[in-house]
Amino acid sequence: MASSNTSVIEERVHLLHTRWSNYISGGSFDQFIEFAVTVNSLAEHFSRMRLPGLVRLCEGLENLALARLGSQASHPLPPQDIALLQRQVSTLLGTVATSRGAPPERRIEEYRDEPRPVEWIKPRLVWLVVSDDMLDAADALRQQIDFFGFQTEEISWNDPLPGSDAPLAVLFFPGSDSEDSEHATIAAIRGHCATSQLIYVGAQPAIDNIVALMRSGIDLTIPIEEGATMVLNCVLDLVQNFEPEKYRVLVVEDSLVALTLIQRTLSEHGIDSRAVRDPGRLIEEMRAYQPDLILMDMHMPRFNGVEATRVLRQMSTYRSIPIVYLSSESDIGMQVEALRLGGDQFLNKPFNPVLLAAVVKTKIERFRETLRSTRHDGLTGLLNHTAAKSQLKAMVERAAPAAQLTVVMIDIDHFKSINDAYGHPVGDQVIRGLAWLLKGRLRSSDLIGRYGGEEFLVALPDITPGQARAVIERIREDFSSLPHAHAKGALFATFSAGVASSTDFPTAQMLTEAADFALLEAKQHGRNRVRQARADDENFRCLQPYLFPENS
Ligand code: GH3
Ligand code: MG
Ligand code: MG
Ligand code: MG
Repeated sequence: MASSNTSVIEERVHLLHTRWSNYISGGSFDQFIEFAVTVNSLAEHFSRMRLPGLVRLCEGLENLALARLGSQASHPLPPQDIALLQRQVSTLLGTVATSRGAPPERRIEEYRDEPRPVEWIKPRLVWLVVSDDMLDAADALRQQIDFFGFQTEEISWNDPLPGSDAPLAVLFFPGSDSEDSEHATIAAIRGHCATSQLIYVGAQPAIDNIVALMRSGIDLTIPIEEGATMVLNCVLDLVQNFEPEKYRVLVVEDSLVALTLIQRTLSEHGIDSRAVRDPGRLIEEMRAYQPDLILMDMHMPRFNGVEATRVLRQMSTYRSIPIVYLSSESDIGMQVEALRLGGDQFLNKPFNPVLLAAVVKTKIERFRETLRSTRHDGLTGLLNHTAAKSQLKAMVERAAPAAQLTVVMIDIDHFKSINDAYGHPVGDQVIRGLAWLLKGRLRSSDLIGRYGGEEFLVALPDITPGQARAVIERIREDFSSLPHAHAKGALFATFSAGVASSTDFPTAQMLTEAADFALLEAKQHGRNRVRQARADDENFRCLQPYLFPENS
């Protein structure tokens, strides 16, 4: 997943470069629009990756461009405007290039021998800017951040900036300095760390104050009473991989000419597409390609677009996928009827490429956002049971035949008695603590799901079973020494885990069942331990007819 990030960014940055060069040489109004659209989509992309500094640079460039949009007659722009835009384009491209630095050292030693996957601008370093009177509060938080697998560096408000690479986040703990001097320090750090998230802890909840902080470059303000929990949550969320896969559009269209035009427009906007020229193949293609949206022609041989749409709407899987008609049909009555029968929008042929791309993108974003909320667990933000299961299945199916994959089932020990002794909210915090630890310690390519109440499913691709086991052992040890606060002090919890490797268990179902069985054994052998499922295990073999009836 990390490497697909890199290629998407590279593609979009390259596209920006190309569009700008095209405008410089051609100078037409249309080329200028295309350039502006590219800047906008790059900004969206950085925003999804949570790189506020780069978003801001893109937005600055976009505003400059929009202010000069004018009309056909205003282009090509006068040389001084071109020079101004050129400077901004160069600044943006330069910042993107330098943000990319070498991937940061991993905290988890066990991963070290592995070829490191490319990770895009996600250092694991956090700076804390602290005044003397806030040292205690900052230290407590710093320990927790360290604990969750980050490196931290503490500086005081007036220190020169550390020479290290730009951090993932900078946390500001205000002191007795004047507001102006605080804002100046923040602005200096903002300028130096375009890609970092700047978080101000302990802001006065007054709008003037917060606006001033945001103007100087703060991305997020957190009231002091929300303190540690919220800061930690924000920092951990930053390393999660929110980068969506490329958008996928299925184009159902019998005319080769129309198809070529549509697919070219989509690909110029970084959208993936697949063509279906015979609507009779629609359902097979839907299954194979799993699109985010369908562009549907109206007039086709055998079935028309409305009939094809009605068929999809009968199937629960495709009830909410966006369907946009693209047709030369100009009869309004017919268009209304087509929408009533399951379409989401009607666009006319010949189409305007900028409008087509905008409609496709916004519909897909909303659709994915809805899917996201149905796929994630509210308490921890991890994938929920169904989503984790289907993602694991996809991971196994996608993997190369010789690829290694380890599945881990984790269950907190004697959790019921934690609830009974300290109450449900404290129990919830223990679950969240484990979720954070997993998020903080695992790679962004690893799968982490909340499988049940206090049960987690983890999948670690591309490392050996031995390395995977070592990673989990380490997390188990650290979890057992993680204090969970309650009203009268702190409690400690442990978990048990079962591990199964794809070398022994080739399918997703076998992997989860074998890991589950090993978990059961870990519980029986005294808890707070990790057990490996072995295909030749006596106990395990006698269960095989139940687990894998098709094999016996
Ligand atoms: P074992 O070591 O054998 O796993 O013992 P256990 O007590 O952890 O096992 P059991 O599965 O019986 O108990 C799980 C408990 O977790 C039961 C349920 O009340 C509680 N639980 C499930 N979901 C949540 C949740 O979201 N929050 C809290 N606080 N408790 C939950
Ligand atoms: Mg047609
Ligand atoms: Mg349980
Ligand atoms: Mg349990």
